[in-house]
Amino acid sequence: TIGENFARIVERFGDREALVEAAADGDPAAARRWTFRELDHDIDRTARGLLAAGVSAGDRIGIWSPNCAEWTILQYAIAKIGAILVNVNPAYRTHELVFVVKQNGMRMLVVAPSDRTSDYVAMARGALAQCPELRELVFLPAPTNAGDAAFTAGEPESGDESTWEALAARAEEVPASIEERAAALSPDDPINIQYTSGTTGFPKGATLTHRNILNNGFSIGELLGYTEEDRIVIPVPFYHCFGMVIGNLNAFSHGCATILPGRGFNPAATLKAVQDFAGTSLYGVPTMFIAELALPDFDSYRLDTLRTGVMAGSTCPIEVMKRVISDMHMEDVAICYGMTETSPVSTMTRLGDSIAHRTETVGRTMPHLESKIIDPGGDLVERGEIGELCTRGYAVMAGYWDQPDKTAEAIDTEGWMHTGDLARMDDDGYIVIEGRIKDLVIRGGENIYPREIEEFLYEHPSIQDVQVIGVPDEKYGEELMACIILKPGAEPLDADAVAEFCRGRLAHYKIPRYIDLRSSFPMTVSGKVRKVEMRDEAIERLG
Ligand code: ATP
Ligand code: MG
Repeated sequence: TIGENFARIVERFGDREALVEAAADGDPAAARRWTFRELDHDIDRTARGLLAAGVSAGDRIGIWSPNCAEWTILQYAIAKIGAILVNVNPAYRTHELVFVVKQNGMRMLVVAPSDRTSDYVAMARGALAQCPELRELVFLPAPTNAGDAAFTAGEPESGDESTWEALAARAEEVPASIEERAAALSPDDPINIQYTSGTTGFPKGATLTHRNILNNGFSIGELLGYTEEDRIVIPVPFYHCFGMVIGNLNAFSHGCATILPGRGFNPAATLKAVQDFAGTSLYGVPTMFIAELALPDFDSYRLDTLRTGVMAGSTCPIEVMKRVISDMHMEDVAICYGMTETSPVSTMTRLGDSIAHRTETVGRTMPHLESKIIDPGGDLVERGEIGELCTRGYAVMAGYWDQPDKTAEAIDTEGWMHTGDLARMDDDGYIVIEGRIKDLVIRGGENIYPREIEEFLYEHPSIQDVQVIGVPDEKYGEELMACIILKPGAEPLDADAVAEFCRGRLAHYKIPRYIDLRSSFPMTVSGKVRKVEMRDEAIERLG
């Protein structure tokens, strides 16, 4: 179990640094820091505090907060007592929060301090009033050096509310050793409900066990060659498996330190954290790396401690990958592919893979997992042909929480998780993701994979970022629209100019009919572009 694994790490690496949280103003001297032994102490206090508050094995405990040290502490405290951590998306508002609380029968919610954009405290009180099953709110403290006005932590107003410190202080009410309780847990107990990103619709709660996520996290670190010397910078949200599994579980199971650059993603704070705390590994979705590389003062950050990192979540433009490898010193950066339902990583590149493999594929299947690619009838496609990717093995979730029908749709009777992604596999087992089945555009009977056109348009000198979507069309069924973010200072592009750029180099039916110039794309908090939303907007605009 996660608790047993952590206890062994504390024994081996107790005095090494485990966790650094950068101060809100970036002052390195004001960062909060823990060794493994100190972290273990805080985890144990929190675990006992939870027991004193009446939490028992199997209870759902939510955390609704951007990344902070307490998030990590709570994750491990909950694993130790066999409760179930529910990651709540920090972008949610009361309506979605209430949905999640009710969906899994959450009993306690740990709540971030309110900030300028989100009044977490008031919204959590709203949910408390509407959900009888939710019995207690626990308010997290504000980050250090944030300035008076930036954050307001909740002040308990009734017996249903307490602070993080008050919860931990209740540890005294519980016997000093709770190790026996931890030993009684099984690796197959559910430990975590993670809602999917909601890129294609309403998020679903994937129920994950110790076996699922600890093994997946550990495996990823093995393939990255992590040792206790590594220091992992994590700007990706913990609420998503990228942060908590590829981040925390992977790092701690190898004795590595984790470094949190701050709350919410900030490209400058991320690079500063690499520099100030000597990061060796940096994580991100492609759009984060794009933002970091685009910083006007990019060259002023010292990044030469980096050697590796993980890029995941969506396809990375080839040019960006090349700059990450050369300009960010991440020679060994790995591409991971996966989904919340597979804990998350099912395929990954290996150290020593060629740049071509790291720019054009998502690597090969992880150890102890299986992949296959099937046609719509369920039969294997020929090697090299496109079909739906399916995954089987220890990492496949126990199921969607309280949604047996959805689970049965996703995982077949032989244990294969149907990913909903289109992919092809070459003779050596390298897999290329072609996009989601739902994003496939069919124009006049031709299958068009938006990614191919995105890669092509990316080479245009004025284009910083581009997403291609299908919009309904009377004549062809669907037509292509390229949604484009221009580079700063670039001349505006129109559909003719883009067509001119494509002509002679791209089949005529792949040339976008419409152009939409934008300053940003609608994103999920895990950093994915919500094409569904762009499609809806486009349909409305085109009438
Ligand atoms: P929802 O299931 O709610 O619509 P989601 O599928 O985005 O949202 P996640 O589980 O966070 O939720 O993401 C998994 C998906 O992300 C995969 O199915 C795939 O489409 C995409 N993805 C993940 N990694 C990669 C990658 N390296 N390259 C391309 N796509 C990726
Ligand atoms: Mg999905």
